[in-house]
Amino acid sequence: MIELINVSSGYNKIEIIKNINIAIEEGSINAIIGKNGCGKTTLLRTASNLLKPLRGEIKIGGKDITGFTNKELAKKISFLPQLRSVPDITVYNLVMHGRYPYLGFSRTPQRQDKKIVEKAIKNMNLEKYINKNVKELSGGERQKVYLAMVLAQNTDIIFLDEPTTYLDINHQLEILEIIKKLKQMGKTIVMVLHDLGNALSYSDKICLMEKGEIAIYDTPQTVFKSREIDRVFNILSAQVAAGDEAKRQYVFCLR
Ligand code: ADP
Repeated sequence: MIELINVSSGYNKIEIIKNINIAIEEGSINAIIGKNGCGKTTLLRTASNLLKPLRGEIKIGGKDITGFTNKELAKKISFLPQLRSVPDITVYNLVMHGRYPYLGFSRTPQRQDKKIVEKAIKNMNLEKYINKNVKELSGGERQKVYLAMVLAQNTDIIFLDEPTTYLDINHQLEILEIIKKLKQMGKTIVMVLHDLGNALSYSDKICLMEKGEIAIYDTPQTVFKSREIDRVFNILSAQVAAGDEAKRQYVFCLR
C-alpha cells in the first residue's frame, strides 16, 4: 500500500499539488487523469520520491518513505518518465539497467541477474531485438524495452508517466495489456494516462485531478457516474456497448 497523507509538493517552494490524501491498494491499476498542467506528473514524481514533498507524509507498506535508503527504494519502486532521450545502447544492456539496484560494489551482473534480464526480454516478446541498438527500434518496441527494464527491476510498485503517448492504437493496447499482466503478477501500477477511455477501461481506480488537488479517487464506474470528468474537462461523456463490465467503452464530446 502507498499512502500520501496531507501532501503538498511543487518546485522552488511553490505549491503545485496540495492536500493530497490517497491510499493506493496493492496489486491495483491506478490512472491519474486531469487537464494539462493540473499536477499529474508532479503527483507521480512526489509519490515515487523523485520530488521531496513540501509538507505531508508518504508511506510504503506503512513505513515512511524517508526511512528507506535509495537502494532499498529502488527495489520497491520503479519509475518510467515520459520524455526520454534515446540512449545508444543494446536492448540487453538497457534492460540490465533494471538490475543495478541489486548489483554489488563491483557492479558486475551475476548469473541470476542475466537470467532475470533474459526472462524480462522474453516476457515482452523482444527476443529478436536482444542485441539490437535501442535507437533502431520503433517507439512501440522501445516502450516495451523500457517495460522489460522495469520488469527486471522487479519492484512491487511501478509508476508510469504516459506510457502510451505517441504510440499507434495497436501499440497503445499492447502496452495496456502488458500493464494488466504486471497487475496479475501482483504489482501495483500508478500511471498518468491522457486517453480517458483507456483510463476508464483499464484501471481499477481513477484519480481525477483538478488544479493540484484530487477531485475524486474511486472506481471507473463511480467516477464516470459522478460526472466529475465532464465537469473538470468541460465535456460530455457517455458509455457505450452495455452488458459485461469488461466490455464497457466510453465516448466523449465537447459540450
Ligand atoms: P501535468 O502532468 O498535469 O500536465 P505537471 O505536474 O507536469 O502537470 O505540472 C504542473 C505545474 O507545475 C505546471 O504549471 C508546470 O508549469 C509546473 N512545473 C512542472 N515541472 C516544473 C519544474 N521542474 N519547475 C517548475 N515548475 C514546474
